[in-house]
Amino acid sequence: MYDKNNVFAKILREEIPSKKVYEDDYAMAFYDVNPRAKTHVLVIPRGEYTDIYDFTQNAPAELQAGFWAAVRNTVDKLGMRENFRTVANTGHGAGQSVFHFHVHIMSDERFKTDF
Ligand code: 5GP
Repeated sequence: MYDKNNVFAKILREEIPSKKVYEDDYAMAFYDVNPRAKTHVLVIPRGEYTDIYDFTQNAPAELQAGFWAAVRNTVDKLGMRENFRTVANTGHGAGQSVFHFHVHIMSDERFKTDF
């Protein structure tokens, strides 16, 4: 069950600040507050989905396409082409702590940070 007061919902509503990398009508990307790689960015859709299982089942096709395009655009904006990984933790047992679907983009290389 989606909690409208989760921290990423608040970031989307701009109730709490974030260091944005990219945004459009479908998604927002921002730096992780507790980075576990030299470059660590999160991409979240503009919609109420708890995890990738919920999102890929229930989000409209336009939002799903827009979200994955935003992941790609974020990677491009960071100046990445390779040497990064994408992770979507799903459920407490896998380490998910914020239940608004998000994709981690992580790299042990330092990509652009001046946004
Ligand atoms: P999860 O563990 O759910 O896959 O990832 C949640 C991520 O959100 C964690 O890496 C954590 O550091 C990050 N995070 C939690 N609260 C905030 C916040 O208020 N701002 C930002 N930018 N990241 C956050």
